Amino acid sequence: MLEDKEPERTSLEKLGEFGLIDHLTRTFSPKQPSTLRAVGDDAAVVKFGDRALLVSTDQLVEGIHFDLSYMPLKHLGYKSVVVNLSDICAMNGVPTQITVSIAVSNRFPLEALEELYTGIKLACDIYQVDLVGGDTTSSDRGLYLSVTAIGHAAEEEVTYRSGARPNDLLVVSGDLGGAFMGLKVLQREKEVFKVNPNNQPDLEPYSYIIERQLKPEARKDIVSLLKELGVRPTSMIDISDGLSSEILHLCDKSKVGCNVYEEKIPLDPTVISACEEFVLDSTMIALSGGEDYELLFTIDQDDYPKIKGNPNLTVVGHMTEADRGAHLITRNEESIPLKAQGWNSFGQG
Ligand SMILES: [Mg+2]
Repeated sequence: MLEDKEPERTSLEKLGEFGLIDHLTRTFSPKQPSTLRAVGDDAAVVKFGDRALLVSTDQLVEGIHFDLSYMPLKHLGYKSVVVNLSDICAMNGVPTQITVSIAVSNRFPLEALEELYTGIKLACDIYQVDLVGGDTTSSDRGLYLSVTAIGHAAEEEVTYRSGARPNDLLVVSGDLGGAFMGLKVLQREKEVFKVNPNNQPDLEPYSYIIERQLKPEARKDIVSLLKELGVRPTSMIDISDGLSSEILHLCDKSKVGCNVYEEKIPLDPTVISACEEFVLDSTMIALSGGEDYELLFTIDQDDYPKIKGNPNLTVVGHMTEADRGAHLITRNEESIPLKAQGWNSFGQG
């Protein structure tokens, strides 16, 4: 028999980010009783006395996750910290330390890296976290940035993706779609600038959505707010990839279904007007546009009076039995299956 010289290769794009993580880590099972949760949530959970230590890492790659032509280095530094702190918040924890590792080409002078670290320091100051380590190395081209966030929570307060039950209410903080529309504006201005470098864009009408893209915040305040209100979320995740993808994660891990109501999805007026300008459907943008870093969580129906009317929180739906599936109920009362069409770094690269 002839030898197969070209064994089959599986493209990473086909697997997708989450498929790849599952595939690579499926043979790892915890050996330590202190490993309460390994891969598969917003952060790993490690038992430490009667507390739970939370650990989360994110990597940002130039050309894939950011474009330095419209992302100032200071903002990049800030954002790289915030997205990790957001994962700690999504476990109902308090972030306390970070480590930062960079790989950088000689294209970057010291001053550029100082800019980056100015942003990192600003995030450390605002969120009261300490930079406690990291690694610096060279790359043949581009900038790579990896941040690890450490935080903690009482063990019984850690909120996993897996705790939602049928009839729980689905709640989102803040508003959605802004970060994606901010990116659309920045990309458009970059193209305009290429054609006419003298053109000075008026970005003032877009300041909110551009800020959502360039300077997102981790909703540490929401974690505190829920504690003040006496609400213990049953499951939680942060919205990095778009609402529909995150809802499906909660449904998958909690083994429940969900109805989410189009008319309830919180949108800022500037997102709606930017969507009109770009001829995009604002519901689609909220469902699929990523990087808002709001918190998505479920609560027991009995807790509804505690959050009712709070301007930071919106009930967008409720969980159902798993066999009902996950659906968007449109303004016309049509029921459409939710699909994960969020950010996929392999698809975009
Ligand atoms: Mg997350």
